[in-house]
Amino acid sequence: MTIQLPEQTRALLLDIEGTTTSIAFVYDTLFPFARAHMAAFLEAHWDDTAVQADVALVREQAAEDVAAGLAGATEIPTHDAEAARALTLANLIGQMDADRKTTGLKSLQGKIWLDGYARGELLAHLFDDVQPALERWHAQGKALYIYSSGSIAAQKLLFKHSIAGDLTPLLSGYFDTTTGPKKVEASYTSICEAVSLDPEQVCFLTDNLDEAHAAHAAVLTAILSVRPGNPDVPEHPFPTLTSFADLTESP
Ligand SMILES: [Mg+2]
Repeated sequence: MTIQLPEQTRALLLDIEGTTTSIAFVYDTLFPFARAHMAAFLEAHWDDTAVQADVALVREQAAEDVAAGLAGATEIPTHDAEAARALTLANLIGQMDADRKTTGLKSLQGKIWLDGYARGELLAHLFDDVQPALERWHAQGKALYIYSSGSIAAQKLLFKHSIAGDLTPLLSGYFDTTTGPKKVEASYTSICEAVSLDPEQVCFLTDNLDEAHAAHAAVLTAILSVRPGNPDVPEHPFPTLTSFADLTESP
């Protein structure tokens, strides 16, 4: 079914998981890739300053976990590099098992994905209709922005190394949870302020009903993306699309 963009639409704000990209890509490809390469990555890059900065975050988190009495928590030493590396790896594997999203882990995962993309071992999934739609909207002068809970660095990687090629030239900006949580109205207000548009001029595409409600409360146009592999959503008041091709300009 065709959905018409409101005439005043100047920008589209796009969620990634479940909207441009299958949820399966993140869980079936990205997370297992980081996990499989974590040991080798730490071994190869242990002495890199940026990696040690992440390890320092993991160490702080481990100390907090020990203090909080978390089961299996172990401190990571600063002096014995061999032991520190082994305990850091064990800690990170444990965090991945528990699906934790700590800053240190996310930063290291990002570096492993960067490595994978740069070596051509990773290509990001995009649904077939995404690239043509982005090209069309871009040609129509609409600004295209991304808002995802993945870090901005990870978002850029995904669109640079996608199965449809490098789409970053089509994108005007990226937002992550440093702007605010995706289910909170104020985050959408902040994004509109950052891109100097009125909320009525921005259309947000997401598969998540809570995010759609938050954007709608901030007076953006919210459209729900229904893609293969997405969880079922309960009844809702939003227009839905199954392909970006369904979203057309007003006549
Ligand atoms: Mg999503």
